[in-house]
Amino acid sequence: MGAGRYAPSPSGELHVGNLRTAMLAWLFARSTGREFILRVEDLDTARTAAGAEEAQIRDLAAIGLTFDTVSPRQSERLPVYAEALSSLRDRGLLYECFCTRRDILDAPRAPHTPPGAYPGTCRHLSEAERAERRQHRPAAWRLATEHETVTVQDTLLGPVTGQVDDVVVQRNDGTPAYNLAVVVDDHLSGVDQVVRADDLAFSSPRQAHLRGLLYGPEAAAEVQYAHVPLVINGESQRLAKRDGAVTLSRLHDVGLSSERVRDLLLDSLRLPAGPLAGAVDGFDPAALPREPWVFEPPAGA
Ligand code: GLU
Repeated sequence: MGAGRYAPSPSGELHVGNLRTAMLAWLFARSTGREFILRVEDLDTARTAAGAEEAQIRDLAAIGLTFDTVSPRQSERLPVYAEALSSLRDRGLLYECFCTRRDILDAPRAPHTPPGAYPGTCRHLSEAERAERRQHRPAAWRLATEHETVTVQDTLLGPVTGQVDDVVVQRNDGTPAYNLAVVVDDHLSGVDQVVRADDLAFSSPRQAHLRGLLYGPEAAAEVQYAHVPLVINGESQRLAKRDGAVTLSRLHDVGLSSERVRDLLLDSLRLPAGPLAGAVDGFDPAALPREPWVFEPPAGA
């Protein structure tokens, strides 16, 4: 039995876009007989808000999302990431990077560098140059890639192809980076189904590449992705807290019960209203809407 997961960052309350993605992750997992895991991604302490984790779990439960397993928080698993980083470092696959954001923007780019990718400035520093730079700035660690082209299979998008880049795997404050932590956690918890919003689709080729390096090509190939459409506001922008009554607690304030919100989300997915279990049997990814869902918060917010 494989597993699916929902992996929120505890930066605040979930809004209906997040709840809809979580509902889809649950439906994909349950309808394919997978275990469903909750993982709190709290490595980015600057984005972690007090009480957010509890509020997120409460709201997920209120719309009927149950989890078989709650993984330890990422902040509790630092030794596991350190081990993965050491294994990559020992194999000569990582290098230290001293660049600031500005350095990266200003650097000349080789013509083959994928857009937005790190231009490779620190890749070939001598030991003496690295020693000198360490005096001024702690190093982040990047994965040395050959800009390989990697394709993953996505149930909704079809094949997603991307060129991998020298992604940061350890930030310069020592924290494991998002891509590293996701890959380690997904693999070690048996996740073989990744459902998340489609603004993260571009991360999948690089995460598959990293998973292959750490755990072998079969481990990378076994993951089935489904990147689901975003929820947008009336101005076609990605839904955000400032849009008004978009969290469950604000929707309660304007008179919508949790069950009503659940039913609105199900309706937006062309699924029958009622307890979520009722949507599992007939769940067919091919019948899901492919365009973003426009959510207009009810008046009175
Ligand atoms: N923690 C990420 C977020 O909330 C999601 C990561 C993932 O699903 O891979 O955006």
